[in-house]
Amino acid sequence: MPFQDTTPKRQEWNFPLNKINPPKINPLKIHPPRDSYQRKIDYLRVSVTDRCNLRCYYCMPEEGMPMVTHNDIMRFEEIELLIRSAISIGFTKVRITGGEPLVRRGIVDLIGKINEIDGLNDLSLTTNGVLLEELAVDLKKSGINRINISLDTLKRERFKEITRIDSFDRVLKGIDAALSVGMSPVKINVVLIKGVNDDEVMDFVEMTREQHFSVRFIEFMPASQTGDWNDQKVISSSALIAKIEEKYPLTIVEEKLGAGPSVNYRVKGFKGTIGFITPVTSHFCEECNRIRVTADGKIRSCLFSDNESYILPLLREGKDIVEIGDFILKSLETKPKCHDINGVKFRSCQRSMSKIGG
Ligand code: SAM
Ligand code: SF4
Repeated sequence: MPFQDTTPKRQEWNFPLNKINPPKINPLKIHPPRDSYQRKIDYLRVSVTDRCNLRCYYCMPEEGMPMVTHNDIMRFEEIELLIRSAISIGFTKVRITGGEPLVRRGIVDLIGKINEIDGLNDLSLTTNGVLLEELAVDLKKSGINRINISLDTLKRERFKEITRIDSFDRVLKGIDAALSVGMSPVKINVVLIKGVNDDEVMDFVEMTREQHFSVRFIEFMPASQTGDWNDQKVISSSALIAKIEEKYPLTIVEEKLGAGPSVNYRVKGFKGTIGFITPVTSHFCEECNRIRVTADGKIRSCLFSDNESYILPLLREGKDIVEIGDFILKSLETKPKCHDINGVKFRSCQRSMSKIGG
């Protein structure tokens, strides 16, 4: 019988030979990286700005928010290098966030470049939707399909009270634009706060009747510098599910919808789904798969830990993809086992969500 050579051929590694930035990657390193607790970490959330065109009262003060200076903000080529490096060590999912990512000039071009990086399987965006009507077509062309739009109320006046800006109609138009350009899934993120918007739960559920929205209720977290959080304002997802079920029987959706920790249900006969994200009452740290990078270039391995690894100098000093990949791997060692929100020692983090990247 003739000898058969089963050694993988070089091209089976599937390294693009025509890229400007040839990956100096050790193929043995390509696997989802793990942290000290053996969790698979393959999801990177990148904040491209700490600025915003809204002022949600639980996230930013109305005035006087200190902003990162122009010089300290990650430049586009630095963000691209950061993401290439993360992908070279096995990250596969990237979410662009902020502040409000769509206020950053040139964001569509940046997203287009990121979308071309080999090895990226999932590129998504979180936005407040205010600028979406103008940008939806270009965002879709540049590679955004998966979009999360934050909307805490379906009442115009209340929107103005929560966000302090009168942009409710623009957000609704932005949601329509996302649907009409064919983005899918379109997720609507609702932070529920007792006494603020918890009377609208059923209206949000109704949104899923005719449209393929994924409405996700998020527990209010102690992640703000406005000092407005207290545990009385948190509505636990279990209480919420019980309340919804009084009117709409829910069935669980087994299939995983995206990279996040939501538990998803559907009302029988409704097109969309309803998700519950429970960082406070039932944390999901054991399954945490992500790290964040702030707009000023600091890796936060846990949303609630102020232990940051400053990666911006490496991105600026001409370090290569291997050195930066190694730095990201090292930063995973700082990822705590759990945030322990409900523990006695828990302290709210120093940055608000707009400065971390939600
Ligand atoms: N500006 C964009 C937006 O609003 O979608 C992206 C950044 S924003 C910080 C990301 C998400 O964090 C939003 O859905 C917002 O409602 C949520 N968020 C901010 N502060 C929060 C808190 N204390 N608890 C829960 N969610 C919060
Ligand atoms: Fe801006 Fe998003 Fe914070 Fe609201 S939640 S102030 S939209 S960053």
